[in-house]
Amino acid sequence: MGDRIFLSSPHMSDEGYEQEYVKEAFETNWIAPLGENVNQFERELAAKVGSKSAAALTSGTAAIHLALKAAGVGEGDIVFCQTLTFSATANPIIYQNAIPVFIDSDYETWNMSSNALEEAFKKYPEVKAVIVVHLYGLSADMDKIVELCGKHNVALIEDAAESLGTYYKGKHTGTFGDYGIFSFNGNKIITTSGGGMLVSDNEERTAKVRFWATQSRDKSRHYQHSELGFNYRMSNVVAGIGRGQLKVLDKRVEKKNYIFEFYKRELGNLEGILFMPSNDWNEPNYWLSSMTLNGRVRPLDIMQALEKENIESRPVWKPMHMQPFFGKYDFIGTGISEKLFENGVCLPSDTKMNDEDLERVVNIIKGLWK
Ligand SMILES: *Cc1c(COP(=O)(O)O)cnc(C)c1O
Repeated sequence: MGDRIFLSSPHMSDEGYEQEYVKEAFETNWIAPLGENVNQFERELAAKVGSKSAAALTSGTAAIHLALKAAGVGEGDIVFCQTLTFSATANPIIYQNAIPVFIDSDYETWNMSSNALEEAFKKYPEVKAVIVVHLYGLSADMDKIVELCGKHNVALIEDAAESLGTYYKGKHTGTFGDYGIFSFNGNKIITTSGGGMLVSDNEERTAKVRFWATQSRDKSRHYQHSELGFNYRMSNVVAGIGRGQLKVLDKRVEKKNYIFEFYKRELGNLEGILFMPSNDWNEPNYWLSSMTLNGRVRPLDIMQALEKENIESRPVWKPMHMQPFFGKYDFIGTGISEKLFENGVCLPSDTKMNDEDLERVVNIIKGLWK
């Protein structure tokens, strides 16, 4: 059996940039909590995506939580949330004691359907915020979603955890809404071992997020707290890894694109395979190369055949409205997300793969059509 091929594993720079920044943190003893790496990582990421401000946090989930809080979401408020996503998009709605209403996807983007969103606004005009996701590095059709949120004067949060390096009509995902969030978890396009970032053009709100994330400590000599606090701030060591990783983001996007094109060329003509959608306004980061199957070969056949050869793959996210925990909440749509889940599979998209590894993967898959 060949070496294990991963879905998407951490890939540090060949140059050792990450270790340089971490070393700096050690030498200056800025191990924790804050320090220069945190400040610079915020500045560098904000500049990269074109946002006015950023707050470095312990995870993408923490960033979504504080984005909801910054948007004023509290007990009993309704939040529209894309149903086809990872549970971390929806969990923070519950942390805030708010009520999720799940919104379907469309085939054109795999992300939030603007038709379903429009329906949802009719049913719940009192909604407080909308969370849209850019799955697998594909962007949602933001023009329509921004317009609908603007028309109803509702806060828009973009879960861009999977889409660092993805642009929509030349503008970076995560910068269309009031708040955008990124994740640096282990399998994301760049990683800090664990971490997240909130971005916003509203510098005042970002400062408030930093305040909440450091236990909401008032400016006074003694420990005084006028608001509920959280321990959500990124450490200076972790931020050092992030600064190094940011330098190789473009390289990682390039390789992910290469992997996607390789699969498309080799597998695109097999009966029943449809790769994730391309749109001329979308410049994806191709975080995970994904496809749907509508023929004899099913996603499970592919996943089992690959696993037998020590190769990792996974199904497309199971929609939130189908989850036992979230099943009691409302869902608006026609079930396209359910079809994407039933028929979808994510192929190994690890940037450490070489052509030989890619050949191994496509030959196993092609074998299922013989
Ligand atoms: C990874 C991920 C998150 C959560 O990020 P963490 O840093 O792991 O907390 C949220 N949403 C989506 C879509 C993700 O893929």
